[in-house]
Amino acid sequence: MEPANHGHIEGDTKPLNVEQRAQQHLEKTGALKSGHFQLTSGLHSDRYCQCAALFERPSIAEEVARMLVTRIPDEERVGTVLTPAIGGIIWGYELARQLGARSLFAERQPGEKFVLRRGFTLTKGERVLLAEDVITTGKSVAELIPLVEDAGAVVVGFAAIADRSRGGFRPPLPVYTLATLDFQTWEQANCPLCREGIPIHKPGSRMEKQNSTA
Ligand code: ZN
Repeated sequence: MEPANHGHIEGDTKPLNVEQRAQQHLEKTGALKSGHFQLTSGLHSDRYCQCAALFERPSIAEEVARMLVTRIPDEERVGTVLTPAIGGIIWGYELARQLGARSLFAERQPGEKFVLRRGFTLTKGERVLLAEDVITTGKSVAELIPLVEDAGAVVVGFAAIADRSRGGFRPPLPVYTLATLDFQTWEQANCPLCREGIPIHKPGSRMEKQNSTA
């Protein structure tokens, strides 16, 4: 096990920019992996990102959130951070803590839209930052917009550690991110890694979970 480093990266002589530091944290924590993966979409890829591995290290999550918070102008006056459960909860909570904002999450009813439960409410005029750990398509986080607008609250922008939408997520509002991930993806029939006979990982599958400590 590595010694705790309190979120600082050692051994670097020249200072890294914010994007490089974020990427390094993703790689060091194992959140961003290289190899041969089958993504949820069924496509094969040479990389995979699962931010839960980064949130295992609260001190690193704190530093990554601090880097993101410095990108949000004070005049946005964020009152609440709202995330889609479950993936966004820890990220949204840490952003809210540092912004001095409230932290709410929305839950999806099976097969239905996102709703606020647990007594969570939004009020008229409240300024809401929507957050997600990784923007894959942006679909989940965009589904939170009606929830905010129906309450008369205002979406001020989106905050994510990483954007891997390859330019596909372009809402007419600010999107604050730290890393842009451009995964190579292929249909199985065209996958060069399959052709080379490299074993494939299916993250999230039951088999992968059993083997995840290997
Ligand atoms: Zn493959």
